[in-house]
Amino acid sequence: MPTIAIYPGSFDPITNGHVDIIQRSLKLFDRVIVAVTQNISKHPFLPVAERILLLSRITEGMEQVRVTSFTGLLVNFARRLEAQVVIRGLRAVSDFEFELQMALTNRNIDPELETVFLMPSGRFIFLSSGLVRELWQLGGPFEKYVPEVVADHLRRMPRVVEGNDPG
Ligand code: ADP
Repeated sequence: MPTIAIYPGSFDPITNGHVDIIQRSLKLFDRVIVAVTQNISKHPFLPVAERILLLSRITEGMEQVRVTSFTGLLVNFARRLEAQVVIRGLRAVSDFEFELQMALTNRNIDPELETVFLMPSGRFIFLSSGLVRELWQLGGPFEKYVPEVVADHLRRMPRVVEGNDPG
């Protein structure tokens, strides 16, 4: 039976840290479904469709990978796809408590579904989508933290500069 893993997340936007985790997971699982979670924030940075498009372009050529999105409970989505594993990335200790709570909650709902934590390369330990969004908003050098297609996409997006209202 093929091992199918789901890698859920906001990916708002996808960073080099996410790509690192995807690449590591390819060595462990037959199929990896990268799944954009919807409805987490009412004011997302990028619309879900754009996140899916960017993820699809970044994972082009990775034959084991499929990109999709989902709403509702992760465990239900995993059952529908017959996935046995949920992949999550662990950075600093700060991720641990929330991730442990999520993993144990999911296990309570479905004991068959295992959560596997992967550590990124050390250079991505302090990297988050939030950091990229902030750098982008402030006109800082965000490019080195994201794949080129994402950098390109963000460069084209208009920035709202607060406190600069001529009215
Ligand atoms: P969520 O809102 O579900 O946390 P994210 O897109 O922020 O979505 O993250 C998705 C997953 O990727 C989480 O498990 C997160 O810990 C992991 N992740 C995010 N950034 C990194 C990184 N730099 N290195 C390793 N894992 C990461």
